[in-house]
Amino acid sequence: MATLRGGIDLGGTKIQTTIVDRKGEVEGEARVPTPTEGAPEDVARAMAAALRKAAAAAGVEPGELEGIGVGSPGDADERTGAVSAARNLPGWEGSFPLGEWLGRELGAPVRVGNDVQVATEAEFRLGAAKPYDSLLGVFWGTGVGGGLVLDRNPWIGRGAAGEIGHVVVERDGAPCTCGRLGCMEAYAGRAAMEIEARRRLEVGEETKIFELAKKKGHDRLKSGDWERALEHGDGLAERLLDRAVGALGTGIASACNILDPEAVVIGGGMGLRFADRYMEGLRAEILEHLFVSDRPPAIEVAELGDLGGAIGATLLFGR
Ligand SMILES: [Zn+2]
Repeated sequence: MATLRGGIDLGGTKIQTTIVDRKGEVEGEARVPTPTEGAPEDVARAMAAALRKAAAAAGVEPGELEGIGVGSPGDADERTGAVSAARNLPGWEGSFPLGEWLGRELGAPVRVGNDVQVATEAEFRLGAAKPYDSLLGVFWGTGVGGGLVLDRNPWIGRGAAGEIGHVVVERDGAPCTCGRLGCMEAYAGRAAMEIEARRRLEVGEETKIFELAKKKGHDRLKSGDWERALEHGDGLAERLLDRAVGALGTGIASACNILDPEAVVIGGGMGLRFADRYMEGLRAEILEHLFVSDRPPAIEVAELGDLGGAIGATLLFGR
């Protein structure tokens, strides 16, 4: 039997787990909702249960795995496996020894990394960025996360690199969920876009987007709601998406001016949903701000989809 590894992608709404072989072929997977109440230990327990389910699907015991990688939001310390300030998760303002806890529970070595960084590495090793030596991963969803591979090596700085969502695209600009002003995410993050749409509705702009979302039973706007609004000719949705793409292009170009990567890979719920519609617009926005514009980076769409984060987490073993 080939050596198998486990991967867990810990998201704000779901926990995706996978079991892969050394080539990254998926042997089993499972997905459970992320607990919305309780403490970090409750989340960790749900993660362990989901990993066991994926292992069962692959016909293996968790303890037989070569290792289990975890892609986590918040401040994930690769050295210790501790995760702190994961504010989208219940009761996780402080620090929790996630790697240690899961290792004990599942009986296999566990490594913990940043969710967006491991998804970027998955695209580099197995997905859209295979032909390149350096890339910037941009995951456009509720927020905007980034990851870096430079000269074929992951780059995490002192642990906080790649936070492209908080590159400033407008000084003293829109308020960001991080508490600062003018971050790219304050314009492009789906959460910030929803806040802005509600604000504009209150001051009299017309939009059908909230009705459309309600019909689908969504109390928060999802990527599909933005798409449906566009299809209904919703002017406000169109203006906010154009604004988001402008901010993304500005922020990405600024990062490229510093790093000059060969490729930029766009993923995330919004990124995948709007790749076809907005890729050309995004490319144009990036070009406008690139200092050396005669050889822009390739702009690619992430290929590994929903499983990318969990597959990327397995790559924490064998980097
Ligand atoms: Zn910010």
